[in-house]
Amino acid sequence: MSFSFTCQAQEQSNSIFLSNKIDISFMLMLCLFAIVIAAFLLYNLIRFRRYQSDITASDERLKLSLWASGDEMWDWNIADGTLYRTNANGVYTLPSIDLDTFPPNKAVIHPNDLVRVAKKLKLHLDGDSESFECAYRLKSNDNSWNWVLDKGKVVSFDEDGSPIRMTGTFKDIHQLKKIENNLKIFAQSIESIAEGVIIFDAQLSVVHVNPGYEIITGHKVTEIVGTKLKFNQISMSLAQEIKSEVDRIGHWQGDVSGQNVSGGFYMAYITANCIKDEQGKITNYVAIVSDTTKRKRTEAKLVKMAKTDTLTGLPNRDVFFSNLQKQVSKKSPTAVLVFDLDDFKKINDSVGHQLGDELLKQIGDRIKPLAEDNDTLYRLGGDEFAFVMENTNDIHKVTLAAKQILTLLSTPYRINQHEFVIAGSIGIVLYPDDGLKPETLLRNADTAMYYAKADGNKYLFFNNEMNKQAVKRLQIENLIRHGLKEDYFEVYYQPKSNLKTDKLVGMEALVRFITPKKGLISPSVFIPIAEETGQIIDIGDLVLRKACIDMKRWIDNDIITGRVAVNLSARQFTLPDLIERIDTILAETGLNPTNLELEITEGTVMDNPKHAITIMHQLRERGIHLALDDFGTGYSSLSYLRKFPLNTLKIDKAFVDDCSTNIGKAMIDTIVTIARNLSLSTVAEGVETEEQKALMSSMKCDVIQGYLYSKPLSAKEFSRFANKHKA
Ligand code: C2E
Ligand code: CA
Ligand code: CA
Repeated sequence: MSFSFTCQAQEQSNSIFLSNKIDISFMLMLCLFAIVIAAFLLYNLIRFRRYQSDITASDERLKLSLWASGDEMWDWNIADGTLYRTNANGVYTLPSIDLDTFPPNKAVIHPNDLVRVAKKLKLHLDGDSESFECAYRLKSNDNSWNWVLDKGKVVSFDEDGSPIRMTGTFKDIHQLKKIENNLKIFAQSIESIAEGVIIFDAQLSVVHVNPGYEIITGHKVTEIVGTKLKFNQISMSLAQEIKSEVDRIGHWQGDVSGQNVSGGFYMAYITANCIKDEQGKITNYVAIVSDTTKRKRTEAKLVKMAKTDTLTGLPNRDVFFSNLQKQVSKKSPTAVLVFDLDDFKKINDSVGHQLGDELLKQIGDRIKPLAEDNDTLYRLGGDEFAFVMENTNDIHKVTLAAKQILTLLSTPYRINQHEFVIAGSIGIVLYPDDGLKPETLLRNADTAMYYAKADGNKYLFFNNEMNKQAVKRLQIENLIRHGLKEDYFEVYYQPKSNLKTDKLVGMEALVRFITPKKGLISPSVFIPIAEETGQIIDIGDLVLRKACIDMKRWIDNDIITGRVAVNLSARQFTLPDLIERIDTILAETGLNPTNLELEITEGTVMDNPKHAITIMHQLRERGIHLALDDFGTGYSSLSYLRKFPLNTLKIDKAFVDDCSTNIGKAMIDTIVTIARNLSLSTVAEGVETEEQKALMSSMKCDVIQGYLYSKPLSAKEFSRFANKHKA
C-alpha cells in the first residue's frame, strides 16, 4: 500500500511530479510566448509611435512650409463635398461646401470674379485643362476682399473617369496684386501725363518715352526707343553737366531750351534722376521734361506787364527806380525831369476820371517822341511823369527838353468835344550833383517841382548853382515879356565911318533893354535867351520898327543919308512870313527900303543856304542891302558865298583885335580880297584904336565901326552926333 501507496504515491507523486513538470514547462512556454508577444507588441508600439511622430513631424513640416510660403492647402472630396484645409493663417474661414452651387465656395468669391473662376474650374473638371489656376478675390474673415491665387488638380477619378478628389493650394496675393495695380496706375499715369518722360539704361540708350515726350520734342516713340541719347536737342555741355551731376548726387533739375524735330524752339524744365540696383549701381536714368514754353512766354508777358503802366503803356515807377539804380551803379551822369500837371485834380473832378485818364494817355503820347536814344519817359503814378536823360548833365540839353515838355503840355488837348488847356511844372535833378541814390534824386526832383509850381516857375533845377542860372533865365524871360509890354526896349545906334572920307555913312541899330529895377541888361545876356524862347521875334519887329521910324525921321530932317543896319536873328530869318513882316513895317513907317540894311550872321545863312538864298533875293529885290555879320567866325564855303546876294562883309571884331599880328593881318587881308573879288564892301567891327584904324585903311577896308568912332548912342545922342558929322 505504502508501495502502492508509495507506488501510488510515487506514481501519484510521479504523475504529480510529471504534471508539475509539464506545468512548469507550459508556464515557461507561456511566459516566453508572452514575452515574445509583449516584445513584439512593444516593438510595434515603438515603431508605430515613431511612425506616428514621423507623420506628425512631416505634417508639422508641411504645415510650417505652407505657412512660411503663405500658401494654404486644400483637399476637396468632390463626391461628398467635404473639404480639408490647412488654413494656416486663419484669415479665410470658408463656410461648408455647398454642393448646390458652382463653384462650391461661391459664397466667398467676389461677384465680379465668379464667372471667371467657374469657367476655369469647369474646364479642369471636364478634363479640358491640365490644372486649375485662377486669381480672384476671396472674402476674408473681416469681410474684406483679398486677392488669392488658387491652384489645384484632380487627383482621383471613379471607374467612370469622373473626378472624385481634387487638391491644391491657394496663396494670398493681395499685396502682389496691390503692387501690380499700383504699377499699372503708375504706368498709365506716365503714359497720360503731359510731361515728357524718357527712361534710359545705364549706357544712355533710350528704354522708354511716353507720348508727352513725343508731343514736346516731336520724336516718335518707335524711332527713339533703343537709340542712344542724342545731344542735338540741348547743348552738349549741358547734357554732360546733367549726367555728371546725376551720377554724383543722384539728381539734377533746371531749365533748358531745345529744338524740336520741326526746328521750333521749346523751353523745358527738366528733372533728371537715376535708378540704382541693390548694389548701388546705376541701372537707369529717368528724365521728366516739363514744357515751359507757354509759361515762360506768359511769364515774360507778365514781367512786361509788371513793368508797364497799363494806362499809358509807359514804363512804370519800378522800372524808373531800377533803371536809375543802374545809372547810379555805373556812376553815369543822368538828368531826371519830374513833372506833373497843375490842378490835375480839378480837371479830374470836373470832367470825370475817364477823361482824366484819356488826358494822361495823350500826355504820354505827346511827350514820348521827345525821348531820344538815351532818354526814357516814365509814368510814376497819378499825373506824375519822369523824363530821364541818361549819360548827360548838359544843362542846355536839359533846359531845352524841359521847355519842350512844357510847350507840349500846354498845347490844347481835344477829348470828346472838350478842349483842355493845362500846364505843368518840372523839377530837375542831376546825378550825381543832386543826390547819390534814386530815392534821394526823386525826392529832390519833387521838391524842385513843388517850388516850380509855387513860384509859378515852370521848371526849376534842384541844384543851387544851376537853380540860380535857371531862375535867372526864367527871370530874364519874364522880364523880356514884361519889357515888351512896358516898352523897355530901346534902340541905340552905332555910327559907321567911311575910311577914305572919314564921313558918317550909316549906323547899326543895337537893342538896349533898360529896366527900371535892374537897369541896362546887355544884349549878349538876353538875346540868346530871347532866341530860345522865341521872344526875339517880337524884339526884332520892335527894333526894326523903331529903327525905321528913327531913320525915316532923320532922313526927312536931312540929318543922315545912307542906311540903317538892323540885325536879323536866326529865328527871325526862318519865319515863313519874314518878307511880309518887313514889308509891313516899311510900309507903316514909310522908310524907303534902300535906306535899310539887314545884318545876318554867317551861321544863320549856312543853316539852310538854299532857303537863305531865296529869302536874300527877295530882300534884295526890294532894294534892301544885306551884310554878312561876324564874317570869318562861321564856316561859309566860298562857293556859297558867291551865290549869296550880299552887299557887305562885316569883319568880326576878333580879327580886328588880332590885326597887329601877322596872322591877324593876313586874315583881314584875305577877307578884304574875297570881298573885293565878290564886289562886296567891307566893314571892320569893333575898331577901338587909331592903330587898328590905320591898319584897316592900309588893307583897303571900306568902313569901320567901333568905339574909336563912337559907342552905340541913344536916338537923341545919335541925332546930335549925326548933325555934327553930316556928310
Ligand atoms: P553885333 O551885331 O556884332 O553887334 C556889335 C556889338 O559889338 C555890339 O554889342 C556893340 O555894342 C559892340 N561893339 C561895337 N563897337 C565895339 C568896340 O569898339 N569894342 C567893343 N568891345 N564892342 C563894340 P551889343 O550891342 O552888346 O550887341 C551884342 C550882340 O547882340 C550883337 O552883336 C548882336 O549879335 C546882338 N544884337 C544887338 N542888338 C540886336 C538886335 O536888335 N537884334 C538882334 N537880332 N541882335 C542884336
Ligand atoms: Ca550886327
Ligand atoms: Ca558883328
